[in-house]
Amino acid sequence: MGITPGALEHLERVYDLLIGYYGEPAWEPDHDPLGGLVGTILSQHTSDINSGRAYHQLIERFSTWEEVRDAPTHEVAEAIKSGGLANVKAPRIQSALHTLSEWQRAKGDTRSLSAFLQDELKGQPLEEAWRYLQQMPGVGPKTAACVLLFNMGRPLMPIDTHLHRLTHRLGLIGPKVSADQAHTIFLKALPPEWAYTLHVNLIRHGRTICHAQRPKCPQCPLLSECAYAGSVNPQETMLPTK
Ligand code: SF4
Repeated sequence: MGITPGALEHLERVYDLLIGYYGEPAWEPDHDPLGGLVGTILSQHTSDINSGRAYHQLIERFSTWEEVRDAPTHEVAEAIKSGGLANVKAPRIQSALHTLSEWQRAKGDTRSLSAFLQDELKGQPLEEAWRYLQQMPGVGPKTAACVLLFNMGRPLMPIDTHLHRLTHRLGLIGPKVSADQAHTIFLKALPPEWAYTLHVNLIRHGRTICHAQRPKCPQCPLLSECAYAGSVNPQETMLPTK
């Protein structure tokens, strides 16, 4: 799958306009992919504040991820109840930890789960690392991409609801491209050094201006680049889907 020169130029103009409007965020990965994975599972269907609180309560209650894995599920659920859907998320977290433990045992590795996952992800090409994470139960394309981008500092852009809506509207992807498919398209098409900034700025834009309902097009810095607002021809700008 390639990208047409016109589409890349369109993407570059969007990237530059967003930096002009929102600035360039600092990319400071913490290199804690297991903490990031658990945090991302906790963030599903809740606010950042609630999931952050649940995460802190979880690591206050348990000293290691091995303890979380082996604890009675109702105790894990109790610790994360402030994040919502605790009875769904607790078994999901434990399931991911059990799966990772099986992979670790199969390799005869005896270090902590955190150290094991960090090395596993460091040693793999980007797309393989992304697919590796998705083999864990409850980990989809977006969660896997979040862990790689935010925790490992690897350039794969997570496509959440804001990015999916915005990249459609801008004409960067075709109208029938799903969020899951969009991950692969941007993985192959996006210059790696743009991934973090573009992700963060598109989320900012989706939250403040390009809302799902009634986007504020007249005040949008991307108006001249937007297929939805009629300023550009979508046929000339879409990234190819295959
Ligand atoms: S012009 Fe409107 S639809 Fe297009 S990106 Fe801006 S706010 Fe969204």
